[in-house]
Amino acid sequence: MKCPHCKQGILEKYTGVMEEDGISYEALRCSQCGEEIMTMPQLKELAKKYRKLRKAKEVTFAQWGNSLAVRIPNDVVQEYKLASGKRAVLTKDKQGIRIIPE
Ligand SMILES: [Zn+2]
Repeated sequence: MKCPHCKQGILEKYTGVMEEDGISYEALRCSQCGEEIMTMPQLKELAKKYRKLRKAKEVTFAQWGNSLAVRIPNDVVQEYKLASGKRAVLTKDKQGIRIIPE
């Protein structure tokens, strides 16, 4: 595919990283002028990554006897109707830990 910008280079698959948030993305880049173009699926993929990032929350561990406790932010408490003493299931996978309220 020829570059629509300079009309000389060829668009090649390229993986870049958004400097501000460290999110990697796939795009097409011109071999001549360096112009980056995204296809619709590539654009959708990037949008998905941003949505995921905004949903992610940072939490802090605290010592609780021999275990560790995780402080859950209030908006999450409200959304999932969590309360002290209520039970949840903890599952582990390669990426981390999931807490599923009962
Ligand atoms: Zn070009």
